[in-house]
Amino acid sequence: MARLAQTAGLTDIQEEILATVRTFVDKEIIPHAQTLEHGDTYPADIVEGMKEMGLFGLTIPEEYGGLGESLLTYALVVEQIARGWMSVSGVINTHFIVAHMLKQHGTPEQKEKYLPRMAAGEVRGSFSMSEPELGSDVAAIRTRATKSGDGYSISGQKMWLTNGGTSNLTAVLVKTDEGAEKPHQNLTTFLVEKPEGYGEVLPGLTIPGKIDKMGYKGVDTTEMVFDGFEIAADQILGGVSGQGFRHMMDGVEVGRVNVAARACGIAIRAFELAIDYAQQRKTFGKAIAEHQAIAFKLAEMATKVEAAHLMMVNAARLKDSGQRNDVEAGMAKLIASEYCAEVTQEAFRIHGGYGYSKEYEIERLMREAPFLLIGEGTSEIQKTIISRGLLREYQSRG
Ligand SMILES: Cc1cc2nc3c(=O)[nH]c(=O)nc-3n(C[C@H](O)[C@H](O)[C@H](O)COP(=O)(O)OP(=O)(O)OC[C@H]3O[C@@H](n4cnc5c(N)ncnc54)[C@H](O)[C@@H]3O)c2cc1C
Repeated sequence: MARLAQTAGLTDIQEEILATVRTFVDKEIIPHAQTLEHGDTYPADIVEGMKEMGLFGLTIPEEYGGLGESLLTYALVVEQIARGWMSVSGVINTHFIVAHMLKQHGTPEQKEKYLPRMAAGEVRGSFSMSEPELGSDVAAIRTRATKSGDGYSISGQKMWLTNGGTSNLTAVLVKTDEGAEKPHQNLTTFLVEKPEGYGEVLPGLTIPGKIDKMGYKGVDTTEMVFDGFEIAADQILGGVSGQGFRHMMDGVEVGRVNVAARACGIAIRAFELAIDYAQQRKTFGKAIAEHQAIAFKLAEMATKVEAAHLMMVNAARLKDSGQRNDVEAGMAKLIASEYCAEVTQEAFRIHGGYGYSKEYEIERLMREAPFLLIGEGTSEIQKTIISRGLLREYQSRG
């Protein structure tokens, strides 16, 4: 995209990475996305290509074999990938969150054990908070780990685990008996190693088949059932129980910037498709782009793309500078996902009846955009986070 979603002040390395990814997206993702998505087919070749480019280690420090890049670089890469096909960004997103949690909170042994293999894409991460009875209300988690010999035994059911069947390391948030008053202080993140695949993959650990979703296809989303699953105490992230909520929220905060970036990518693509179609389709003797009603739609769509991109970049830069960014990440996620849904809807309308045909890419984007309103915290939850932050900051002296 020549004009929209440009980012000022990038380093030469960032520009180079983005140019490489953009070319990969145009050549290797966009031409195959429709077929793979309609077939609900895992994009194995694309994932191999991403491994070769080093994208699985993009933010992992160089000392562990990664590229040591910033959250901003990662977010801009994700924006490009989602412009091609959101499911591909879903493959690396959970991996990125787990790598971030390990980098920030892992013990030296855990970092040494996992980060180099994560950078190479041999170990692939997923994370699990949600359960059948809860998503927004994380502190209400029921899956429980109880002491068993030197380790723990986990029982309970997890839900909505993206990459559940195709990952081999899952960060799982469960309840432990810390005796703390506040429920979130009784949560612990375990690093569960498991083979890829479905069924009873280990004694006491079952990954039932893929959940059939309206969009976001190709990438697998599963349940995860624990029934007396035995795990060693040194698989607790950071080595100390009761810290899991804090660790996961840190992961989800960077995840929010990533979801905002995905929304930007989809919105950019929807705009590209719409502006192209609007110049080709003729009604009443002229291209529909020449009808002011359509031209104004394009202007509004582009403005939303630009605003969302700028807020996403701002939130990423804030985090990279070491500052707290919960409000800004929430704002970026909120506006990018809401604008994405609106821009995609307008692009769909511009396509007229053809937008409803599976031959046209906009049909897929229409099914992908709604997920961004839900994943990594719904819009209502973002508004809760934003308003709490603002009330903290703007305390009334009256
Ligand atoms: C395709 C897909 C992939 C996913 N991948 C993962 C994953 O990899 N790992 C993982 O842990 N989870 C994952 N999730 C789960 C996702 O994070 C949750 O669905 C999401 O957090 C919302 O939770 P919920 O579905 O339980 O909705 P609920 O929490 O039940 O919310 C239902 C509705 O009530 C609203 N609501 C809830 N509480 C409040 C409140 N206090 N104030 C106002 N409104 C409120 C919500 O905004 C929503 O509109 C995935 C979900 C999907 C659909």
